[in-house]
Amino acid sequence: MKVAIIGAGLAGLACAHELERLGIIPDLYEKNGYIGEPFNHSTAMLRIIDRPPHGDYLRYFMEKLYLDIKPLAPVKRMMHNSPAKKKMVTGKNLGFLFLRSNTRDSVKNQLCETLSKTRVFLSNLADLSTLKKKYDFVVVANGNNLYTKEYGLWQTWFNGYVRAAVVHGNFDTSRIDMWINQHYCRNGYAYLTPFSDKKASLILVVSDCDERDINEYWNAFLYYEDLKYPIIEEFTLYHTSGYVYPKIIDNVIFAGAAGGSIDPFLGFGQFNSLSMGVFAARTIVQGLDYHRQCRYITKKNLYLQQLRQGFNQLDNEGYDSLIASIGFPGVRTLLYKTSINWIPLGSSIIKQINKRQLRIG
Ligand SMILES: Cc1cc2nc3c(=O)[nH]c(=O)nc-3n(C[C@H](O)[C@H](O)[C@H](O)COP(=O)(O)OP(=O)(O)OC[C@H]3O[C@@H](n4cnc5c(N)ncnc54)[C@H](O)[C@@H]3O)c2cc1C
Repeated sequence: MKVAIIGAGLAGLACAHELERLGIIPDLYEKNGYIGEPFNHSTAMLRIIDRPPHGDYLRYFMEKLYLDIKPLAPVKRMMHNSPAKKKMVTGKNLGFLFLRSNTRDSVKNQLCETLSKTRVFLSNLADLSTLKKKYDFVVVANGNNLYTKEYGLWQTWFNGYVRAAVVHGNFDTSRIDMWINQHYCRNGYAYLTPFSDKKASLILVVSDCDERDINEYWNAFLYYEDLKYPIIEEFTLYHTSGYVYPKIIDNVIFAGAAGGSIDPFLGFGQFNSLSMGVFAARTIVQGLDYHRQCRYITKKNLYLQQLRQGFNQLDNEGYDSLIASIGFPGVRTLLYKTSINWIPLGSSIIKQINKRQLRIG
């Protein structure tokens, strides 16, 4: 069987690994001349969003997806900031940080090292209409919505821009800082994730803004939060999240961000993209139902979209109430210390805060 994969990102590499494991050697096309990211940053997988069985991501990846991935560090402290509130949450098992770069220890390069037979074509901008005629299956894992839009399968949930920087300072490598504030995030958020004790990614995500505005929001963010870290590197990216259905058409399967993996609340997608890559391979070789395998991801993202709609109605006072609620023992335990999926409940909690705001208003 001939299988092509477009994109050597998380989904494409995970798919190639699973295809090899199941006895198929795919052709993997990557437009860049390297595996990894054009810029260094660190990304998080947080148990607050994904709850793999036993709460253990690494065990889940190894036992269910057969992927051996080493994180940079566990997350043990999360500082949540709103305009007038601060809440620190500590715990042994809040999640993990992963390195995203083009160096050997980055997640994508770790995955690529595990491939033994896949033919990897670097500097090769693949074209779907050509490949779908040449191959039995094509897995589109190009990290964007180019083809799903073209095929009329994409429905946008969230559009915006990400402004990011690599900053220099003294960092606790197991701590994440997060901020919400309508003055500069406009329904988005900002966060700091270290990738060494001297370097961290500082990221601002703003929804429904255009590329010119993001600079103003960025300057406002640095000013309001009094962040004076020296900046080593900066970049701006378009950011979108959407619903994709169907995720499989004829001999084409959409995986990762191309298949709607990016969550509409925090913009996370690593867990989903890795899983979807593996599921695509199992659909091709074992005939498993792709939508059924992706059901957990699809449902989770639908709930997170409801959460976002509620979140978008909050003003800064609402943000303060939200952060204050993390201090209540019951809420804190539900969010961080149990394996109960809180996301469906979360949207009704935000609705309550909204109602209270309306009554006060
Ligand atoms: C700044 C930033 C911070 C993030 N932080 C987090 C986080 O903290 N936690 C989290 O879970 N997620 C985070 N994400 C999201 C996460 O990175 C994505 O969900 C994930 O990388 C998507 O994986 P993917 O395989 O679908 O796409 P990608 O990893 O983007 O890979 C797509 C690949 O396809 C290649 N490609 C594109 N078009 C073609 C073509 N025509 N031919 C050949 N190759 C092609 C690209 O060059 C790229 O290598 C973040 C994303 C960004 C940008």
